Amino acid sequence: MVDFQQIAESFEPAIVNREFSVYFQPQYNHSTGALIGSEALVRWISPKYGFISPADFIPALEEMGVIPTLDLYVFEEVCRFLRKCIDEGKSLARISVNMSRNDILCEDYIERLEKLRVKYDVPTKLIHVELTETAAVAGPNVVINAIRKLHDLGYTVEMDDFGSGYSSLNVLKDIDFDVLKLDLKFIGGAIGSERGGTILSSVVRMAKWLKLPVIAEGVETIEQADFLKSVGCDYIQGYLYSKPIPAPEYEKLLSGKTIGSIVPQMNIDQFVDAGKFWNPASMETLIFSNFVGAASIVEVSNDFESLDILRVNQKYVRELGMNLSESEIISFKPYDTLEGESKRIYRETLRKVVATREEQECETWRIIKSECCGTERICIRSSIQIIGESKVSRLFYVMVRNITVEKNALETMRDSERRFKAASEQANIYYWEYSIATKEMRPCFRCQRDLGLPPLVRNYPEPLIENGTFPEDFADMYRDIMHQINGGAKRLEAIIPLTKERVPYHVRYTTEFDENGNPIKAYGSATKVVDK
Ligand code: C2E
Ligand code: CA
Ligand code: CA
Repeated sequence: MVDFQQIAESFEPAIVNREFSVYFQPQYNHSTGALIGSEALVRWISPKYGFISPADFIPALEEMGVIPTLDLYVFEEVCRFLRKCIDEGKSLARISVNMSRNDILCEDYIERLEKLRVKYDVPTKLIHVELTETAAVAGPNVVINAIRKLHDLGYTVEMDDFGSGYSSLNVLKDIDFDVLKLDLKFIGGAIGSERGGTILSSVVRMAKWLKLPVIAEGVETIEQADFLKSVGCDYIQGYLYSKPIPAPEYEKLLSGKTIGSIVPQMNIDQFVDAGKFWNPASMETLIFSNFVGAASIVEVSNDFESLDILRVNQKYVRELGMNLSESEIISFKPYDTLEGESKRIYRETLRKVVATREEQECETWRIIKSECCGTERICIRSSIQIIGESKVSRLFYVMVRNITVEKNALETMRDSERRFKAASEQANIYYWEYSIATKEMRPCFRCQRDLGLPPLVRNYPEPLIENGTFPEDFADMYRDIMHQINGGAKRLEAIIPLTKERVPYHVRYTTEFDENGNPIKAYGSATKVVDK
């Protein structure tokens, strides 16, 4: 055990000699298994005293007023680490850094942080800042100002040691934290006990009222994690998953794990219980994974500007095709895959869902890139429902169907139809299809236009006899033609005067048979008989 005097004397040389190193403690979404990020925790490995625990030297350094020096050192290490991950194309997961009470009181601390961040050119969204609840009590205004500054710069602010009992709900609601960290040590770790459980669930409920996501730390057993999940807290940091580990080890984790994000606490009372979609044992998850078609859960910022896929089921992966993996899909920036007009349509549909509170559908084209299949243009039909709302974003449940093949086939059909129309107009030909089993006739567009026929004529040829297309005295002859076709005639031809003008037409029929030789369809055509 080192004493205050020894720490005081060794600190400055220790900084110069880089005796401090930063460890990372991974944090997970207990429901999905996704790594959501880590907390940076400092370690002092002194050549003279050996390993010194932060619990011993941090309070001493606070007393000496030199904590800002250490924290800036740690912050720079974190920026350097993130920069390295970016440069090496590693999966990126945000890192939380600790900011002590002394740091807040240090006039230009935040400016110095920001300078370091800019120096390493790391996006602010990759850094969370942890402030303790005790700091908040010491002087709410100082903390409120610090948080405002951090927010203006784009940092996310977490309240450390929430539940330590210092602050009331009243204090909390005036301080604009984004995430709460609940330390199990403050409830005696006695989750199994009734008292511990009650305290914990009321703390989590309190967090829900504040509409803030909660990370539970100090979670050591699966029972604790499961209990937390059951009260609506999915984010876990603790020995159960991992101790704080050195950078190289943490880096290895990054290359193997699905990276998730922290989902803002949703206002779930009015809607489907969104929380249940994250619980692997819930009925919702069971349904999501097994009984519905391709589906995803997406989070959309309330200004509709940013959209993230949080979760997809196996069928979704298959529906998109292209050998994509779940994590590849989740890492897409969906808006970037949408074509210009499609992006507008998708956004409009989301707006409509919010306005009507009802499921809405849209069809959008996307450009998807994958390693194996290159770039493809696909058309997706989405049915969108809202399932949750927070003060910053909304959750949507989206069922999708890949309709690229249908869309393309429709395009080709339209194309050939267009060509066919032009040809039939030029050749002055009328044509139609006749189904033998149903006696239904489908006239071509010219028949419809020139003879005023509907797209489907039932009980053919009677309606055409009735409307005078076939003159009365030729009715029986025409009925006989149809009778022969129904009976299996392969080919028939006749000259028939049509309409009351009795214009002579050359009518031809060709019949189609199934594999047993039964007639199924006949194709008819009529061309005007021209005088030679
Ligand atoms: P903290 O911010 O509450 O950090 C969480 C502490 O809980 C860490 O202790 C971590 O190792 C420990 N922990 C994590 N999981 C478990 C678990 O399952 N069971 C138990 N019993 N403990 C767990 P550590 O690293 O010893 O740090 C102690 C405290 O020192 C931190 O508490 C924080 O207040 C302070 N600290 C650490 N690094 C820094 C730093 O870079 N700057 C500042 N200002 N303070 C730091
Ligand atoms: Ca902390
Ligand atoms: Ca803590």
